[in-house]
Parts: sequence; structure tokens; C-alpha cells
Amino acid sequence: MLKRTIAFVLVISFAHLCFAQLKSPEDFLGYKIGTKFTPHWKIVDYFKSVAAAVPSIVKLEQYGQTYEDRPLMVAYVSASEHISNIENIRRHNLSLARLENNTAGNYDYPSIVWLSYNVHGNEASSSEAAMLTLYALVDPKNSGTKQWLKNTLVIIDPCSNPDGRDRYVNWSNSVVGKNFNPVLDAREHDEPWPGGRTNHYNFDLNRDWVWQTQTESQSRLDLYNKWLPQVHVDFHEMGINQAYYFAPAAQPYHEVITKWQKEFQELMGRNHAKYFDEKGWLYFTKEEYDLVYPAYGDTYPMYNGAIGMTYEQAGGGGGVAASGAVITNSDDTLTLYDRTIHHFTTSLSTIEVASQNASRLLSEFKKFFDEAVTIGVGNYKSYVIKYDANDAARIDALMDLLKKNNISYGTGKSGNYRGFNYDTRKDESFSVASNDIVVSAFQPKSALIKVLFEPNTHLVDTIAYDITAWALPYAYGLKTYASNQRIDVNRNLTKTVNNSQPSENPYGYVLRWNGTQSVKLVSQLLQKGVKLRYNESPFETGGQSFDRGAVLILKTSNQHYANLWKTVRDLANANNVQLTAVSSGFVDKGYDFGSSKVRPLKQRKIALITGEEASAVAAGEVWFYFDQVIDYPVTLINSKDASFVNWNNYDVVILPSGNYKFLIDKSSGDALKTWINNGGHLIAMEDAVAQLSSLDWGLKPKKEDSIRSNDTYASLKKFENRERDFMYYPVPGSIFRVELDNTNPLAFGYPNYYYTLKIGDKAYEFMNEGGWNVGVLKKDKPVAGFVRSTLRNKLQDGLLFGVQEMGNGTITYLADDVLFRNFWENGQLMFANAVFLVEQ
Ligand SMILES: [Zn+2]
Repeated sequence: MLKRTIAFVLVISFAHLCFAQLKSPEDFLGYKIGTKFTPHWKIVDYFKSVAAAVPSIVKLEQYGQTYEDRPLMVAYVSASEHISNIENIRRHNLSLARLENNTAGNYDYPSIVWLSYNVHGNEASSSEAAMLTLYALVDPKNSGTKQWLKNTLVIIDPCSNPDGRDRYVNWSNSVVGKNFNPVLDAREHDEPWPGGRTNHYNFDLNRDWVWQTQTESQSRLDLYNKWLPQVHVDFHEMGINQAYYFAPAAQPYHEVITKWQKEFQELMGRNHAKYFDEKGWLYFTKEEYDLVYPAYGDTYPMYNGAIGMTYEQAGGGGGVAASGAVITNSDDTLTLYDRTIHHFTTSLSTIEVASQNASRLLSEFKKFFDEAVTIGVGNYKSYVIKYDANDAARIDALMDLLKKNNISYGTGKSGNYRGFNYDTRKDESFSVASNDIVVSAFQPKSALIKVLFEPNTHLVDTIAYDITAWALPYAYGLKTYASNQRIDVNRNLTKTVNNSQPSENPYGYVLRWNGTQSVKLVSQLLQKGVKLRYNESPFETGGQSFDRGAVLILKTSNQHYANLWKTVRDLANANNVQLTAVSSGFVDKGYDFGSSKVRPLKQRKIALITGEEASAVAAGEVWFYFDQVIDYPVTLINSKDASFVNWNNYDVVILPSGNYKFLIDKSSGDALKTWINNGGHLIAMEDAVAQLSSLDWGLKPKKEDSIRSNDTYASLKKFENRERDFMYYPVPGSIFRVELDNTNPLAFGYPNYYYTLKIGDKAYEFMNEGGWNVGVLKKDKPVAGFVRSTLRNKLQDGLLFGVQEMGNGTITYLADDVLFRNFWENGQLMFANAVFLVEQ
């Protein structure tokens, strides 16, 4: 019986193998690629079917899943000897990058090409091209591609943003008729809010590589750092009227990009051009897409030893959904088929060039990391982050970022050194203490470290596609020195949080209010029904000093809470937060815990305005902050419904960057004002601040006449320079030092300054009676990044962060984005202050 069962299973398995027949995308899907948008699940199914049909040359791996539970997949495609030796190849590759020790042995290692498709979900032709590319590599009739696979391992990620893609594709498929309608007026070219470009929380995943705030990026970068390919390509789409864009990239290049990385882009560009010329297709190079900001799918690979490239096809993007066909401004019809074939062509051409240069790719890759480890990239050889208990939460957050990028750090050899002080921006002497964190430039990730830490980004040109400053010490608000001296690092850094206090029944606990972890813990304590207070004055107790905003968990108000201290300590441990036990309400300095300066910190009910009138990305940042970062309930309300909402159901209403009709409407505007007068707290951000300042609610924009330049001829511009002049406007993301009134709850937990990432050109007049000017610009120069000189006049002596009292309520103005892409760590506490602490 047993024998028969085994035989039966063998027959079934054999039959199964025989039936796993290799099919082209068209045969598998039942339609020709480019005639329909393929939903994500079918793309996954196609990849599975190919892997099942030719398992010796294709291996699939699920590396994660999206917020909406779609699988994230890659396919490894190479010659069978490589696929069967794949783990060895991976480890050997990491050892070339000096991140593993795997002796070479006698083996011809392939170079690694990684192709990422569809990171912007509504740039949807690229995942269609991914299926064609996979098939072209495995199709037995295609002998050319088999040749490439002898020395090349191709990693294909058919869709880096499945949630965004399906949001786009499901919508698009639901609004087209039997045929695509190329007329631009047709509704299929007008994608509804928030669009499929971004992921579930409206985050742009092509701005998230280094920061890894989103689950898709975290999973992908974890896998990416396990491989570190020699070539990475990110496939995109842009406005419908453009030609195809491929490498070499536009200036500016970051100075860490090597001669070889530039040279190889040139080789690529010439090979693609050959194929495009044969077909008579238009293309351009060296324009628009630069190589600076480290969170893209081209720059991040560049800073990690690869040749990173972006390819752009006309199609999705630019505010017009191309759908399956669209008439362009040259009266041509751009079809999904054309778009797909272009991406397919550059996909194969990329693999071809990589294969032709496989051994050079490996030797240059090795050289990149050898130099990193032995010489260290850049003039600064060590970065020292000074430990301060009040900065502990943000230091933890920084270490987490370093870990995600495989950057090593540790404690440094104590002693006296010299270095650049990020706060004073001068070279000074400083000492390294035993608990300071040191990041050394002598390590494989040296180029990336330089890009992330350098106080000023050195660019070949001054116009850039994205922000021009992001230095981590400013983004995280940490006291840091950059030194030319080499400081030896002890990597065995262990941090322990231990809240199992000796006293089982303390008078209470104090929690420092200094970063996201503190806010997360407060969020959880409030939701568990634990009553909290906060001290609006600094105090000292038990030999420790605490800043304003320190949270107190006391027996008072919590007498009836069963297992109070166990609940508190368990949650603190789970959040990696150190609490301080106190044995008395009598403090050594400052106000005792029974003082009226110690105020209740209550649960607040939050409403977030979202929908078409809000910026999708801005609304997404706030949503993500509540939903994923601090895990606190928030009600999302569509702006079109805002006129009908009973605001009395909420304590806090948040207006993310946007422009809202209900504010202009007299009756709904008045209803919101009445709610504020009765004690409501309104938080306005970025463009919503600008809108309120135009409505005579109290805040005034800075006067326009102060922006006028001293140069009489400033408005005489050359036609030829129009794109450049346009890109200069307004501020391409520069860092300014903001002077803070940190006695105001909006700035609790901060020193008397804050580094803001300034994107727009908005600043406001100081408020008088009833207004608190909490964050103002006094200096005229940015700390890092570029700003036009004419704009400096406007920003100088401007208000950026403030609280206006209105009746019994408040309006908090956050003119800059304190939650920027969720990586501007130091801004998040200001947002939490506005949500939980600001009151009269
Ligand atoms: Zn894109």
C-alpha cells in the first residue's frame, strides 16, 4: 500500500512538472502585452508559472508584503550553474564589498543586475515590460540572452509598489470602454485623488530608499543590502509629451560618484541609443534627472557601489494618466504597447552591456569598497554624536537608520579631538566620552556615510530635482562633530533599557519628552486609560534634571487602576524607553508635582482633513504618523464633507497642506471658528497656513514688497534659461536654523533652536496680542542647501511656527513640513506637541 502511494505521488509530481509549461506573457494572460493593464496578482502568477516551468534558471523569492497584504517578489534569473550556487554567489559578492568573508574559490562569479519596475504605481507600463523581459531571458529560442546569463545574474522586481499599481490599474480598467480613448478629455486620463503613484499611505517610494520609513522600502532595502548588485535600474514614466530618457544622468552629480560609474552610464546610453536609432525612436540623456538626493533608486545604488540609473518613458505622471492610448501635443498617439516595448528594449540592452562588461563591473565594484575601507570617502574620517539623556530617543532613531543601511557605529576611544561643530558651524576642540556614538568613514558604506552626514552637499551645479540638504545631525537634532581625525570604534555597543525598578511601589514615574518613542509610549498609556500629567517647567529630583514637557505618571488619578506599575513598566520596556522612578512629589528644584504648573495630559480626539483639496503626500504623512508611528486613533474626513461635520466630536482638527473650500464658505468657516472659540485646537500645516493667512483669521503673510530684489534688472530673464530659472524657484529644500521659544508647549523637548527643512518660500509676520511666535527665522542664511538671495530677504525675521489663541481654543501654525517624508525625525516631536500639549 505504502509503495503504491509513493508511486502515485511520483506520477503526480512528474505530471505536474510536465504540465508546468513555459508560456509567453501573451499565451499565459490571453491577451497581447500592451493591450490591457495587468493587475498585480496576474503578474505574480505569471512569474510563478515561469519559475515552475524553468526552475533551473529562475528562482522566485517573496521578500515582503505591502500594507494591503500584496506580496513583494523578486525573480533571480541566470544560468543553471549560478542558480544552483546562488547563496554562495551572494556571499561572495558581499565579500567583494568587504561585508562578508567568503573566500573566492575556483568559480567564475557572475555580475549582478537588478531591475526594479513600477515603483510609482501609476507609471504602469513598466511591470508589463517586466513580464516580457523575464520571458526573453528564459525563452529557449532566444540564444542571445542565454549567452548573457552565463556571466550575469539578473534580479527582477516586477513591481516595487503593488498597492499603488493596483489602485491605478483597477481604476483605469474600471473606466475604459471596449477600446482605449486617446482623446485627452476622456475621463480615463483624469486619475482620481490620491492617484496610484504612491503607496498605501501616499508615500513616494522613490524618495524613501535611504530612509526606509515604509514597509515596502524596508523589505526591499533589506534584500538589496544582502545582495548589493553592480547595476540597478529603476523604471519610470513621465509626462505624455516627452521622449524616452536614459543614462547618462543630468548634472548635478554628487562628488562621490566615481569616474567608472560615470563612464559606465555612458556605455549604457550608447547601447540603448543604438537600438532606439534602429527603430527611429526619440530619446534624450543628460537632462532633468540628476544624481544627488540619496533616497532614489539611482542615487542610493550609486552610493552603494553600483551603477544606478533611472529610465523614463512618456506615459503616467505629469498629471495626465496616459491610459492605454493618448494623443500627444505632436498629434501622435502614444500607446501602452509603445511604452512597454521601450522599457523592454532598455531592459535587455542593460543586461547586454552588463554582460559585455561583467568582469570590469566586478573589479570596479571591489575597488569601490576596498577604497572605502582603506582610505575612507571624503575629508571627514569620523562623525561623533554626543550623548545627552534628553536626546536619547533621537539617538536611538539615528542608530536604527544606520542599522537599516548596514552602516556600522559604536563607542569611540575617549580623548580630545578637533572637528566641525554642526551647531556653531566652526572647527572646535571637543572630547569623546564613553557613551558618545562614533561613525567611522573607514568602512564599506563610506560613500553613503559621507552623503548622509556632510554639512554641505557639494554639487557640480546648483539646480537640483529635489531637496539639496538633509544632513543627519540637523534632521535628527543631535549635537555632532565631524572630524578629520580617525577615531577607533568599538562596535560592541549595547543599550539596555531596564524599568524593573527596585521600589515596587514608587510615588510615580517620570518620562522624558524627547522624541517619537516618548510620544508612542504616551499614546499607548493614554489608550490604556492611564492618567498622565506633564510639567510645564523644568525640575530636578533624585539628582536628575528634567526639561519642560516631562510626563508624570502618578498614583493620583490612577488609584483604581489594577496593576498600574506593571502596565507602565511593560509598555516602557516594549518601547525601549527608560523611566525614572520618583519617591516623592517634593522636588529639589522647580515646581512640586501638585503645582498648577503641572497639567493633565489628556486623550484628545483627532480629525484629519483629507481628500481632493489636500495634498495627498502631506495628508499621507499625517495619517501614517498616527496609524503606524505612534499608533493613535485618528478620523480621516474628506474635505468635501467638512461642512457637515459636528466639530464638537473632536478636540483637535488637522489641516494638512492644501486649499480648502469649506474654510472660504462663510457658514462652514464660522462653524469651525465657533468650535475653536469653544476650546477646539486647529492645526494648520504648510499651504493650509498660507490659506488661513489670506482669510483674516489673525495670521498675516510677510509683505511682498520685502521680497523685491535690489537688482533693478532682476526681472530681465533669458528665454534660454527658463527651465533653470523655474527650478530655482522657490527653495529647493534647504536647512534653516529657527529660533524657538521653548517655554511654549509647542516647542517642549527642544533646545532654544530647531533646524527646519524649508521647501517653500512662505514666512509670516510676527503675531501680536493673543499670538505666540514660537519659531522664527532671524538669520538670513540657510545652514545648508541653496536659496536665492532675493528670497533670503523675505524669509528673514519671518514666523514659521506659532500658536494663536482664539476664545478658549488655539490655532497652531506649522508653516514648514515637520513630518517631511517621515524622515525629518526632529520635527515629529513638534507635531506631537501641537496635537497633545498646545493649550492656553
Ligand atoms: Zn516615477
